[in-house]
Amino acid sequence: MKGCKCLICERINMIKEGRNPYFVRELETGYVVIGDHQHFRGYTLFLYKHHGKYTELFQLPPQERARFLEEMTVVAKAVSAAFGAEKMNYELLGMGDAHLHWHLFPRRKGDLEEYGNKGAGPVWWYPAEKMFGLENRPSDSELEEMKSRLAEELEKLRPERTEEWL
Ligand SMILES: [Zn+2]
Repeated sequence: MKGCKCLICERINMIKEGRNPYFVRELETGYVVIGDHQHFRGYTLFLYKHHGKYTELFQLPPQERARFLEEMTVVAKAVSAAFGAEKMNYELLGMGDAHLHWHLFPRRKGDLEEYGNKGAGPVWWYPAEKMFGLENRPSDSELEEMKSRLAEELEKLRPERTEEWL
């Protein structure tokens, strides 16, 4: 949206202008981007294309919702294959920016270090100041490598994501 203060819209505008270094692929309902911080190696987001009247999954027209969920699932599969997850975690929150966007976290045993319940638990049990620390920003070359690895896995799944779902 023009004049919108939403961070997700800002990032999407950067993609459209060709100046978002985290951008991986455009799908039918959203954009795949690598996360800014990589404590959970391979952390990826799937940003819904539109910000407007729909800010809840249950508000989306059923066909659009099915497609959005299906594409998110394919992205999660690609992330898992690209970065070697033991388990994928999925989050759709939106208290910061209501714009629909998925957080896709590849999880591995021990990734909470000494935090959580004996090292187990949801990603938000890892301290935010560490998770968002500068040391978790990927370098330019790491970012390029991650993007190409994920793009390659997404390409392998092309038949799954272009299939007629409904
Ligand atoms: Zn937005």
